[in-house]
Amino acid sequence: METKSKPIKIYMLPFFAQGHLIPLVNLARLVASKNQKVTIITTPSNAQLFDKTIEHDKATGSFINVHIVKFPATQLGLPIGVENLFAASDNQTASKIVMAAHILKPEIEAFMKQNPPDVFIPDIMFTWSESTAKILQIPRLVFNPISIFDVCMIEAIKSHPEAFVSDSGPYHIPELPHPITLPIKPSPGFARLTEPLVEAEKGSHGVIVNSFAELDEGYTEYYENLTGRKVWHVGPTSLMIKTTLEKTDNISNGSSTKHKCLTWLDTKEPSSVVYISFGSLCSLSNDQLLELAKGIEASKHQFLWVVHRKGDDDDDDNENWLPKGFKERMKEENRGMLIKGWVPQPLILDHPSIGGFLTHCGWNATVEAISSGVPMITMPGFGDQYYNEKLVTEVHRIGVEVGAAEWSMSPYDAKKTVVSWERIEKGVKSLMDGDGGGNEIRKRAKDMKEKAWKAVQEGGSSQNCLTALVDYLQSVVGPRQSINN
Ligand code: UDP
Repeated sequence: METKSKPIKIYMLPFFAQGHLIPLVNLARLVASKNQKVTIITTPSNAQLFDKTIEHDKATGSFINVHIVKFPATQLGLPIGVENLFAASDNQTASKIVMAAHILKPEIEAFMKQNPPDVFIPDIMFTWSESTAKILQIPRLVFNPISIFDVCMIEAIKSHPEAFVSDSGPYHIPELPHPITLPIKPSPGFARLTEPLVEAEKGSHGVIVNSFAELDEGYTEYYENLTGRKVWHVGPTSLMIKTTLEKTDNISNGSSTKHKCLTWLDTKEPSSVVYISFGSLCSLSNDQLLELAKGIEASKHQFLWVVHRKGDDDDDDNENWLPKGFKERMKEENRGMLIKGWVPQPLILDHPSIGGFLTHCGWNATVEAISSGVPMITMPGFGDQYYNEKLVTEVHRIGVEVGAAEWSMSPYDAKKTVVSWERIEKGVKSLMDGDGGGNEIRKRAKDMKEKAWKAVQEGGSSQNCLTALVDYLQSVVGPRQSINN
């Protein structure tokens, strides 16, 4: 159903990391498809990741634009073009990219003062956005790229320090709608890191998440009671895009040629391949990569393994972290494919030959796996991913838990301990061999996919929420329309 009122002018500001940018650009496209005027504010290199898609949407009648602000590379001492955490390989570079989000405040604010929008929807990382919205006297909603379940976990952990006095786990998290246990103690630094972000939600007209209401059942109420803020579930955004705007990949693919990994997957039996990826940021140590290779080889299952290591590309044969003869053995048996570089993840997860996803539990990876009905083998890498693992394995029971060896706050920290190949082998086998509860997990993952698909159809919870969001924005903007249009 399309909103009939006069379009309002909405500015969206995605943060400079794939896990933030992809879902917020998807949201921008969805809102624009409801006849609203949307402008995405970003920097040159980040714009390149999605500008073809926006051009395509414009050509098909959407009111969507990109406004470019110069990335403060010289001021930060960063090489030209390094504007996204995906391009960082250490904490120092990453913190400069985070700093850029703050340095850009005056420029973005000046642009907004000259061309005031009716509504501002920044990523939660732009913690200064509340004051800008106040100065301009415009309503602001924040986009939170993690899950509401995670925010509930963060709050419950903060309010119950007594649950963490012991030196060793498991730690039982009180108060939440489900009994949740954490095998390792969360770093107090993580709570400190998230505090300004949660703070940034205050004074907003609500929080938009890349999820669907059914996935957060129990937790939305918990969150809304705790904070008094409304949650808008407008996701999974990649699934909404796929079912409404296009039938191809998410924004970061942009290519019309079939990726070689999809051609390889075409040769495989249904549900026979494990897809392995640790997202766009995690750079695993050589020791951990070795354990992974040994674990997947010992499981005897087929695999498609994507390795993102900064500086490596697909033609690079420098793989001294692999067990001796691994590549040759895999090639001989046509058992596995190893890829370095960007792959079209939603298309891979949708491929019928994928039977399991060995994942770091990034929030987008998690909702994408759910959208495709692929059960997960969880191995969190840092931050909120330890909590996403719990939503998968303990709340919805759509994955097998491998777990982590230690708590880490950053994808760039070298971990001192590794997850052993035996744990990885066990996790893969228990899902893929069907014993150890694998068949029930697979069935529940298919049921959850059904719920996700229902949510994004006309009349489903996420579609209704998108319509309600646009109607709500129209209603709060009201008389301002004449000023800005
Ligand atoms: N992604 C992709 N191809 C890759 C790596 C990542 O399409 O080779 C996408 C993935 O589908 C997801 C996003 O990048 O939408 C990564 O976000 P997530 O929250 O899963 O993890 P992060 O990279 O932030 O750790």
